[in-house]
Amino acid sequence: MMPAMKWLILFLYLAVIAMRLWLRRLNLAHLSKHGHEMPPPFEGFVDQELLEKTTDYTLAKSRIGLIESIFSSLVLVLFLFGGLLEWYDSWVSALADSFVGQGLIFVLGLTLVQTALDIPFSLYRTFVLEERFRFNTSTPQIWFTDLVKSLLIGALLLALVTAGVLSLVQVSPDFWWLWVWVFLALVTLLLMYLSPVLIEPLFFKFQPLQKEELAKRVKYVMGQAGLQIERVQQVDASRRSKHSNAYFTGIGRVKRIVLFDTLLEQMDDDEIIGVLAHEAGHWKLGHIWKRLLGMELVSLAGCWLAWLVLTRGSLPGWFGIDHLSFVGQVILLGFVASLAGFPLTPLSSWLSRRHEWQADRFAVELTGESRPLSKALVKLSCENLSNWHPHPHYAWFYYSHPPVTARIARLAGMVST
Ligand SMILES: [Zn+2]
Repeated sequence: MMPAMKWLILFLYLAVIAMRLWLRRLNLAHLSKHGHEMPPPFEGFVDQELLEKTTDYTLAKSRIGLIESIFSSLVLVLFLFGGLLEWYDSWVSALADSFVGQGLIFVLGLTLVQTALDIPFSLYRTFVLEERFRFNTSTPQIWFTDLVKSLLIGALLLALVTAGVLSLVQVSPDFWWLWVWVFLALVTLLLMYLSPVLIEPLFFKFQPLQKEELAKRVKYVMGQAGLQIERVQQVDASRRSKHSNAYFTGIGRVKRIVLFDTLLEQMDDDEIIGVLAHEAGHWKLGHIWKRLLGMELVSLAGCWLAWLVLTRGSLPGWFGIDHLSFVGQVILLGFVASLAGFPLTPLSSWLSRRHEWQADRFAVELTGESRPLSKALVKLSCENLSNWHPHPHYAWFYYSHPPVTARIARLAGMVST
């Protein structure tokens, strides 16, 4: 007999899935109703063919997303509710004697299976979907070496973090929540420093920005914003995909700016300055630190709650499981936490969108004009075939950035000096 709690959790999970499906349907219905309408900011810039293409791309992406989420939901239900977790847990505990050793085998085995299950979807997305819309520039060889590299790096990091966390749990049964939190925060900070130096170069080739005039202008404009730019680089993103982007890295006062070579190809200098001025806004307005601080506060609360629940040991009982290892219980807890966190999605989306509005305003104030950023946004959303007609509820729930048409409309209304 399934205990009542297990039914309740399963019911909540199904409710979350139903909510996600409903939002998806709403969004697609909105698209099929309005998809043929040209949004005013794009008039004269975009032809009907491109408009249709954005609709097709949104639909195609949504379709594979649906298949993938149905598949992963089934696997998850089978794993958590169908007895697979208990079986896997006892199999792992027979393989090693120590607490840390068992935990390591548990998480590494699970990651390996997860990566393997994702392979068909990753192949389809890269070589069928992205290929069909002419975004893909990757080759099977690049895809495969990327997979091996990220699996090795991911496994190494995961093993280090797991071993660290489990050792702390073992050493300090009453206060591990605090030590684990400190440890995870340090790992996050360390990765922010090390990833651009150690990990990113394994995948991409960085070099100084070839357009020297632009590099000088970028440093000058960022200097006006009070940001000291050490290096302006370009990266060979075009080896994998035509999607474009630009980003800042570096903690502290000295920053590095990275521009995708695809972005350099698509935009003129004014537009690139507009995009970077927006990014500079995120730093100057403290968004990066605020987000990091918020994340760490949530992590602290999470560690404490995890300690509370795991020390009581009642979690396996909720799922009708007699005996489960510590790591097995962490997996259950993660699942319950993701259910509890789902209703908070709109809050985090809203906070993120608020930062985007502020960064747009900052960019206009810094550069003294709004047109280049507007044009850059139009180009970005054309090149990436973004959905120009999201349903308002859908955008409200999920969108970390305001819909592009709304951003352009608001930019046009900003008085430039
Ligand atoms: Zn932004």
